[in-house]
Amino acid sequence: MTLPDHVRIVEVGPRDGFQAESRFIPTELKVEIIERLAAAGVRDIEAVSFVHPRVIPQMADAAEVMARVERRPGVRYLALVPNLKGAERALEAGVDALRLVVCVTETYNRNNVGLSVDESLELFGDVVRLAGDVPTSVVLAVAFGCPFEGEVPEDRVLDLARRFVDLGSAELGIADSAGLANPLQVHRLLRRLAEALPGVPKWLHLHDTRGLGLANAVAAMEEGIDTFDTSLGGLGGCPIMKGASGNIATEEMLYLCHEMGLATGVDLDAVRDASRALEAFLGRELPSRVLRAGTREELVARNQNAGEPCRES
Ligand code: ZN
Repeated sequence: MTLPDHVRIVEVGPRDGFQAESRFIPTELKVEIIERLAAAGVRDIEAVSFVHPRVIPQMADAAEVMARVERRPGVRYLALVPNLKGAERALEAGVDALRLVVCVTETYNRNNVGLSVDESLELFGDVVRLAGDVPTSVVLAVAFGCPFEGEVPEDRVLDLARRFVDLGSAELGIADSAGLANPLQVHRLLRRLAEALPGVPKWLHLHDTRGLGLANAVAAMEEGIDTFDTSLGGLGGCPIMKGASGNIATEEMLYLCHEMGLATGVDLDAVRDASRALEAFLGRELPSRVLRAGTREELVARNQNAGEPCRES
């Protein structure tokens, strides 16, 4: 089994996570969280979405967030864009890369972005041309299963992946938006994608809706994937999907990698502090289990200091 030596964490909490929150998160707290994540060592942050404020009011201050956030050298600040207008706003805000979500099933794409998949292909080509030197990538959503159409044929994902790469997608994002993937399916699809599109950098966007998120991440690592979207505290959901839950939690992914001896360059403690700052504002506990349970070292230290045997079974 070969695993990557270094795993690249793309923190998507400020976008995927925040947009699932109904209570408006003040701009200054958004900026603070993004800055804390960068200070923690995260090198890629999906900071905002330039979606129309009527659709997602939480993202109404996207331009302001980007203007106020202190840019750290070496950190890429990414934005999600749903259309050309959003891409224009993102480029004006000086983001480092654009991402555009396209759902691989017609029903979901219509529900999510109001376009047919062919229309999304056309739009993507326009965004790539507009973005010029700014790298633009597609995220193929519901690639492992669709809440509306059920099973998603792998050939469909492969075909779309090829077409988006031909249109200029810098990297290829594969998303399990509904948390329906299983590790064998991840192995299979990624192996086929690697054969079909060697040399195209790929990343995985996993939701932990049914508890298989990290198992799927390990399966992907075994297929050579070294880049994962994660969200602090396990924040997240989907505005149009009932029963959706968060991305794999950044803390859990970091813990997994560090326990397995894979470097991430990210300080787990600093990410947990950011999650706690967010919990204080939201007034509830976030789903990340590592945030609650702590690390192995902390557990041992706690029990040694307590001086009593641990009676839990
Ligand atoms: Zn997502």
